[in-house]
Amino acid sequence: SWCQELLRIQVPENGFYIDATTGNGHDTLFLCELAKERGHVLGFDIQQQALNHTREMLVRNHMEDRARLICDSHVNMGKYAEEGSADAICFNFGYLPGGDHALATKPETSLAAIGEGLKLLKKGGVMSLCIYSGGDSGFEERDAVLLFLKDLDEKKYIVIVNQYYNRKNNPPIPAFIIKK
Ligand code: SAM
Repeated sequence: SWCQELLRIQVPENGFYIDATTGNGHDTLFLCELAKERGHVLGFDIQQQALNHTREMLVRNHMEDRARLICDSHVNMGKYAEEGSADAICFNFGYLPGGDHALATKPETSLAAIGEGLKLLKKGGVMSLCIYSGGDSGFEERDAVLLFLKDLDEKKYIVIVNQYYNRKNNPPIPAFIIKK
């Protein structure tokens, strides 16, 4: 929810947005709301089950016309969108709640997809990343993503990593990349 709050403040309405991990569709719905009448959304997931849930969520909210849902890895998002075209890209790592935990995002593909996403982002565009750790998620992906963010060129990107400071048991880490 913090990722959504920040995107709401930072990102213009009626734009083009990418949900890199549609899962059950909460973020896709949020992006479709932001898209209003003139914007549009691309959503990716490797699980058809997730895309079905997302589609149902959009239909319930009468927003299915605003999104194109694609059953493909987010590593391939560059095949579906132009470089420098996206106002916002949203990653919500981990596994599909209620689904197969083995089909969670993986460090190697997540890093490759962030790299692809940064090419697609407009100047001034924002990428949000919700990073999970502990439990079935382990710590490998969290550590790999945080290291990747730390190394991004400060001349090209502003990187903000937030913390739920008083929350116990490995709370999610909301992070943001703004393309200068
Ligand atoms: N944003 C979602 C929501 O609002 O409900 C939650 C996303 S869920 C935590 C993570 C999703 O990432 C899962 O549905 C999983 O199938 C998907 N995923 C895993 N690897 C992926 C990949 N390489 N490309 C795209 N999606 C992937």
